[in-house]
Amino acid sequence: MTDRFGRVHTDLRVSLTDRCNLRCTYCMPAEGLDWMPKEDVLTDDEIVRLIGVATRRLGITEVRLTGGEPLLRRGLPQLVARLTALDPAPELSLTTNGVGLARSAVALRAAGLRRVNVSLDTLRPERYAVLTRRHRLADVLDGLRLARDVGLAPVKVNAVPIRGVNDDEVTDLAAFATEHGYRMRFIESMPLDAQGEWQRDAMITAEEILQSLTERFELLPIGRRDNAPAEEWRIAGTDSVIGIIASVTRPFCGNCDRVRLTADGQLRNCLFATKESDLRALLRNGADDTALEAAWRTCISGKGPGHAINSPDFSRPERPMSAIGG
Ligand code: SAM
Ligand code: SF4
Repeated sequence: MTDRFGRVHTDLRVSLTDRCNLRCTYCMPAEGLDWMPKEDVLTDDEIVRLIGVATRRLGITEVRLTGGEPLLRRGLPQLVARLTALDPAPELSLTTNGVGLARSAVALRAAGLRRVNVSLDTLRPERYAVLTRRHRLADVLDGLRLARDVGLAPVKVNAVPIRGVNDDEVTDLAAFATEHGYRMRFIESMPLDAQGEWQRDAMITAEEILQSLTERFELLPIGRRDNAPAEEWRIAGTDSVIGIIASVTRPFCGNCDRVRLTADGQLRNCLFATKESDLRALLRNGADDTALEAAWRTCISGKGPGHAINSPDFSRPERPMSAIGG
């Protein structure tokens, strides 16, 4: 799937649900959101069908399952097993808040899941409870350990530093990941919260993250792997790799190879897209694989050169991050 700018799309993010068991303040309000009606959410059969079309006909090689919180989806190991049985099978990974990971890591690994990214913004229990509005830090730490022990490698830890909230923990998080054999990644906060409260001043920039890290560690630049969004550094004298995803201050749109499928079957050619392609309607109206493939290609050919967060006429997408799939 090549777009007008020559970008080849091989990486698919699939949101399995818009629901979540946490309420991270930079993502959604305390009361949660109006969740999608159950009948709007793609079934396992529909997801397997669409991903099958994507790997057989469209050159998708990597699939990341996300949400909302993907571990809330019932029967996830069975879905993972069906996806890894596809021919060709995608390389399958998961982005999770880690709360339910200790319970499911063994089954997910056995079903063929390869890697996990676990979101963890603080190591302090009280702060975790304020930031996520739930007391679940111990579960996440257990989940991380188990994921590593069953071989979901590498286990990446994702943190979004916010000014005055957890920005004083950048180096502690990096040290924690180094000590436990996880790969730490810091992500600039983006204007995708459901409340519309994002403020540029509260975002900790890649530059600031690097500044903090270099106060405690000697960093050796690795650069960017292929089309990966993260720029990476190795901590001198260790195997520990730290990544920074600077979507706002150092956008990587020129190399973007991603396409996204929402839990209700809408295809998005960009995290910040304001238009979607309704694959669910096609599926439920009996479209054959050729028609699905054509809709997919049309969506990609409409992809713009990049997001406009830094432009004065930027308009946020209607969906928040949790309903798109981050
Ligand atoms: N619930 C899972 C989790 O938290 O990992 C998966 C979905 S969550 C939307 C995916 C990633 O998006 C998480 O790493 C989270 O920290 C990040 N995220 C959520 N809201 C964000 C925002 N406004 N800016 C930047 N990243 C955000
Ligand atoms: Fe849930 Fe992930 Fe959003 Fe936190 S970032 S509220 S865990 S969807």
